[in-house]
Amino acid sequence: MRIALISEHASPLAVLGGEDAGGQNTHVAELAAALAGAGHDVRVYTRRDDTDLPVTVRMLDGVAVVHVPAGPPEVIAKDDLLPHMKPFSRWLVDRWRRDDWAPDVVHAHFWMSGLAGITAARRLGVPVLLTYHALGTVKRRHQGASDTSPGRRIGYERALGRAVDRVIAQSQDELRELIRMGVPADRMTIVPSGVNVASFAPTGPAQERPDGRPRVLTVGRLVERKGFQDLIRAMPAVPDAECVVVGGPPGAELLDDPQARRLLAVARECGVADRVRLAGAVPRQEMARWYRSADVLVAAPWYEPFGLTPLEAMACGVPVIGTAVGGLTDTIVDGVTGDLVPPRDPAALGAALHALLADPARRAGYATAALERVRGHYSWQRAAAQLGEVYEAVVSQVRQTSQVVA
Ligand code: UDP
Repeated sequence: MRIALISEHASPLAVLGGEDAGGQNTHVAELAAALAGAGHDVRVYTRRDDTDLPVTVRMLDGVAVVHVPAGPPEVIAKDDLLPHMKPFSRWLVDRWRRDDWAPDVVHAHFWMSGLAGITAARRLGVPVLLTYHALGTVKRRHQGASDTSPGRRIGYERALGRAVDRVIAQSQDELRELIRMGVPADRMTIVPSGVNVASFAPTGPAQERPDGRPRVLTVGRLVERKGFQDLIRAMPAVPDAECVVVGGPPGAELLDDPQARRLLAVARECGVADRVRLAGAVPRQEMARWYRSADVLVAAPWYEPFGLTPLEAMACGVPVIGTAVGGLTDTIVDGVTGDLVPPRDPAALGAALHALLADPARRAGYATAALERVRGHYSWQRAAAQLGEVYEAVVSQVRQTSQVVA
């Protein structure tokens, strides 16, 4: 099949760890690769945010990344991108009409891609699927007045849920949230994100540990809702251990970053500054080395639509402590593959860390069970196969409907 993936702000070619670059970039890159590996012809459409970017870049065999000119060719925060979605969608229609390549199916990632995708695909009679990656209602609930999303986001997300041919939810929690938003259950399928089990594996080089202390690792964009400050506040409970935070701007720019400064101030306030290290952004291909160097991975978000970092750690055979929110309640089986603790609760996190670091047998048990779970349920090959079936079903449904109408 010819598959168009639309990911308006998250390019699969982008560096990860910045404020707007995270799991969606990884998700789209891995999904595109796995779909191509299953024999599909994939094009990923993302906004051109740099004058130096060529229109088309061949990412690998069967995957091209197309940079869509929509708005100025510079980095724009994703919350300011909505006005550029109309030109984005017009460019797609024009391109698909003119070129010898038009998609059989469009799979949009994030609500704004959904808007651009549905407008373009409807003009060509092509079915559209949508993965939200994050929901405005959840963001508003947790961030309140500090949520900078466009005011119309929630309304658009609700309307898209009814308009697209299929919604792909990533977890049970997201499915429940979408049902509460009024998206009909029979239009939704759960296909969780995956992990590249070839790159994320227990064997291979590990980042050195110069201090020789037990290492608690945490990974992600340095935004407040990732809960890194809660982990830092939990560190007094494990006085021998070090805490390493991977993510944020790359090394040299890190000290000027307000979020990095905020976290270091929390560390000083808790008297753990000598045991908390911010490592900055790490290229994706080096992430496995960092996971392998850890005794435990902590993922302490306040909310999390899916959460790739616990799965990546599990694939590397590292035990995980996560907060019982969003996708983490599907991926981490409490007491079997890791521990779940309440969000925003440094005391509970500290107690869980203390107990797990003191119990090597339980850590080994979690690591073995986690590895089995990841390999059985969360490979990208499995996700691509599931999605391939959904694409086929949606395409034949749309063809049948258009035959009836004709
Ligand atoms: N990541 C990375 N380098 C970094 C920080 C993060 O490659 O310096 C990757 C990480 O391995 C994971 C993704 O970025 O694949 C973060 O995804 P997650 O779902 O945990 O969070 P999101 O950013 O989507 O909220």
